[in-house]
Amino acid sequence: MNGKKKIGVLALQGAFVEHMASLEKLGAEASPVRLPRDLENLDGLIIPGGESTTIAQLMLFYGFTKVLRKLSQDDFPIFGTCAGMILLAKSTLDLDAETIGAMDIKVRRNAFGRQGDSFEISLSVPALGEVPFPAVFIRAPVIVETEPGVEILASLPDGTPVAAKQKNLLVSAFHPELNSDLRFHAYFLDIASRGRIH
Ligand code: GLN
Repeated sequence: MNGKKKIGVLALQGAFVEHMASLEKLGAEASPVRLPRDLENLDGLIIPGGESTTIAQLMLFYGFTKVLRKLSQDDFPIFGTCAGMILLAKSTLDLDAETIGAMDIKVRRNAFGRQGDSFEISLSVPALGEVPFPAVFIRAPVIVETEPGVEILASLPDGTPVAAKQKNLLVSAFHPELNSDLRFHAYFLDIASRGRIH
């Protein structure tokens, strides 16, 4: 696949505008995805942060859940950030809702409690190079279990994984769209430009 990459951003609820701006700064075409038919002709999809219970309900209502489960199994590139990571995880503690459930990770919602509601930390992300990544966490989840096949990309100083990749799927517990460091989005565009892995 050549030319400008076309990436959709699920625009049901949450921080989708900021993701679109980050993608556009990298020269990609960003389009809001409000209905399943908006998924046509995309090279990848970002599921933003927000409230996972609300997004899960809206995804079911608009008919996204099964479609995205199927697409993710067919190697369609998807990047889930914060609530988006929760929606991609195969298993979530404390969430009573049907989700996409495509990635072999277990996550815990709101893992930092009130004290750590929102914070920024410099994370070492070797896949992005030597310069640490300024990661903004907002009522963030963490990864509590991974299965073989999942590559951990970044962990907190105590060893808790907070970003990971499995084939076409990328997740971060934090919000890479909330600062000017575009390396996570560039990394996802790279996954998307390799096309579907067969
Ligand atoms: N706490 C939210 C949830 O569980 C996620 C927060 C976020 O996406 N910033 O859905």
